Amino acid sequence: MNWISNYVRPKINSLFSRREVPENLWTKCDECGTMLFHRELADNLRVCTNCGHHMHITPRDRFAALFDGGIFTEVSVPKPIDDPLKFRDQKKYPDRLKAAQKAANEAEAMLVAEGEIHRTPVVAACQDFGFMAGSMGMYVGNAIIAAAERAVALKRPLILFSAAGGARMQEGILSLMQMPRTTVAVEMLKDAGLPYVVVLTHPTTGGVTASYAMLGDVHIAEPNALICFAGPRVIEQTIRETLPEGFQRAEYLLDHGMLDRVTPRGEQRDELATILRMLTGEGPIVHGDLPAPEAAEAEALSEAIQAISDEAEGTSPTEDDEKKKPSE
Ligand SMILES: [Zn+2]
Repeated sequence: MNWISNYVRPKINSLFSRREVPENLWTKCDECGTMLFHRELADNLRVCTNCGHHMHITPRDRFAALFDGGIFTEVSVPKPIDDPLKFRDQKKYPDRLKAAQKAANEAEAMLVAEGEIHRTPVVAACQDFGFMAGSMGMYVGNAIIAAAERAVALKRPLILFSAAGGARMQEGILSLMQMPRTTVAVEMLKDAGLPYVVVLTHPTTGGVTASYAMLGDVHIAEPNALICFAGPRVIEQTIRETLPEGFQRAEYLLDHGMLDRVTPRGEQRDELATILRMLTGEGPIVHGDLPAPEAAEAEALSEAIQAISDEAEGTSPTEDDEKKKPSE
């Protein structure tokens, strides 16, 4: 047994202690029950490789996959006043908020960033369902206004990824006031003639669908996303009728004219760039690897040198050329 305790165990321990082991290496798909390895799942943008079920993805991961080279700059959002209603349910609202901040490692339920998609400059905002069910409170309102103001200042289109359980009840009427506030923010973009594209993700419900999530120039949804104002259960109980299959899901809404597109997560990057470039009158996106900035600069430099040497080697300047020079 000596070799086990002296050799094998330390070796195993060192293997595992060398790097941080994620708590859950495997994630079970809610739809088909397949166990998915965390790396494979991350590479596939948290879409089940077996059935195509779109799982929750954090705004940071989404932005890393969306922007060129995963590079983006966060846009700062003004912090609203804390707990104006001194709200308390089972927990005090500030305590609930702190717990959510710790769990999600984010300040609030929306992340705003600027960057480029296929070299198309954009501002993007993404709601985080993992943060208190992505509920729309004062911070989310501030975030959308900050995103719209930034987009107007930079003359860039705005992309918004919505995901919400509705308004944040802990902020009462103040959360409902975010509906007109964000509507005004969208209006700012329209006045500036800038495109506003909404990507509705699972689930987008409540007051969010009664304001900024339904005011886009183009509405794209992720497959099978639940998009509704009142949920199917509430409607079923109210009208006492069985609802059709797939009711209020993305594909159903597309069939009934509520959406423009249903696009899998992996295709959204290309599609968003294409739509935005069409709307802003730019040329189509260029596929394939673009040279790194250093390489491009070096190439430009060598071209300039070549041009100068060509000029020097070329025929001696005629009188006409001499005359042209000062005007150039
Ligand atoms: Zn699955």
